[in-house]
Amino acid sequence: MLDSVTVRVSGKVNLALNVGPLREDGYHSLATVFQAVSIYDDLTVTAAAPGSGIRLTVTGEGVGAVPTDSSNLAVRAVEAMVQHGGISDAVLSLNKGIPVAGGMAGGSADAAGALLAIDTLCELNLGRENLSEIGAELGSDVPFCLYGGTALGTDRGNVITPALVRGDYYWVLALAEEGLSTPEVFRRVDYIRDLADVLVEDPKVPDALMSALLAGDAQLVGKALSNDLQRAATHLRPSLDQLLRSGQDAGALGSIVSGSGPTCAFLARDNIHALDIAVALTSTGLCRTVKRATGPAFGATVIDARSIA
Ligand code: ATP
Repeated sequence: MLDSVTVRVSGKVNLALNVGPLREDGYHSLATVFQAVSIYDDLTVTAAAPGSGIRLTVTGEGVGAVPTDSSNLAVRAVEAMVQHGGISDAVLSLNKGIPVAGGMAGGSADAAGALLAIDTLCELNLGRENLSEIGAELGSDVPFCLYGGTALGTDRGNVITPALVRGDYYWVLALAEEGLSTPEVFRRVDYIRDLADVLVEDPKVPDALMSALLAGDAQLVGKALSNDLQRAATHLRPSLDQLLRSGQDAGALGSIVSGSGPTCAFLARDNIHALDIAVALTSTGLCRTVKRATGPAFGATVIDARSIA
């Protein structure tokens, strides 16, 4: 029997995020292309004495903004696993590298990590498909965070189909001082659409992006990046417009708000080009910090498992 399992999870960017109509269940229909990138959280789950409950400590990036109670998605994931053979007494230790409320699915990644950690710790062998089903109830991005790589997300983003992709992609990520609330960004999309009285069509992933990914052509991928949440995010945080333009001026192949923002993602030709863009973005003073990452990165992965006895 294992006593402690550590799982590493990646953040994501959306290469395309097409937002359809608001559904009756309160979600929007989405057609998105996720790519996992090499910005990681590590979560260690250790079995604890019966009756001690679930305790969480958090270190790292944005720690002050991460709840440690049962509203934390990692805790909720452990709780959700109890009815599938998991444990209700555990110590969770989370080290964050993924920006909090940054549009990079940090909380969802931690939930995915907790599902896999409990599955491994308790030797449940549920498999990624069953874990995805449990995860989709916790958050729409959780299934993708289990799979990683590059994948299409449909329905509310929770139905995952791996995409055929060639090549490595070099990203520069500009992290903001303060996060943006995902529900607020979606509400702003609806508001902007209502004002313009636009007919919202069913969402579709752009063919140009899929063929650019299949060809492994970073230049064309850069041109095909799109995000229907970008306008709403820049409405709420106007400085993002200027930041995106600065990336373009620095020669990025493409610049985009990551998911609901405010993290902005800039695609580079290679590592050296990424460094140039990172330096240019840092000098604008428009972001808190700049990180380089590559994609596609892996989904939730066990990196350590041990028995204490
Ligand atoms: P997404 O891209 O999935 O919409 P996000 O990356 O923008 O999400 P998160 O980092 O998941 O945002 O954080 C959103 C909010 O969720 C935070 O403000 C925080 O209060 C809460 N939260 C709950 N669990 C976590 C967690 N494990 N890590 C970070 N934030 C969490």
